[in-house]
Amino acid sequence: MREHLIERARKVAEMASSYRDFKVGCAILVWRPEGQTTLDHYSILTAANVKPRPDGPKACAEQTVVCYAMSNGWTRVIAMAVAGEPQADEKSGLTPPTLHPCWLCRTLLKSLPIVSDDTIVLTAHNHAGTVEDHTFKEVLEIHGE
Ligand SMILES: [Zn+2]
Repeated sequence: MREHLIERARKVAEMASSYRDFKVGCAILVWRPEGQTTLDHYSILTAANVKPRPDGPKACAEQTVVCYAMSNGWTRVIAMAVAGEPQADEKSGLTPPTLHPCWLCRTLLKSLPIVSDDTIVLTAHNHAGTVEDHTFKEVLEIHGE
């Protein structure tokens, strides 16, 4: 499942809209309880980042897909895979071996009940190479949050 999520994140990253060709994809494994719906209790949802102008707002892949999940009745993110090229974190200044969710994403995600300390966060390059496997809590700790 981990590899499948990473592959889905890499694939959807190709749909990114970025003025500087910075392509990020996010795939999440989500769950919702029985009884709420006749539909499946698990699903994989995906989104890519959108930042068409250097002087305009951005919509990160992680925020887009998690907000979509909440809007559609999903109540828990079990795991999240993020694919992109690593860059320095704007807040912590660290450059992890893979691209971590940015400070805005981390701040939003940690305030949402759908994401928990033990949500698995897999981060990977767009095509191949290092994959990091953390919990969401560990990602926050890496960036001193
Ligand atoms: Zn972000």
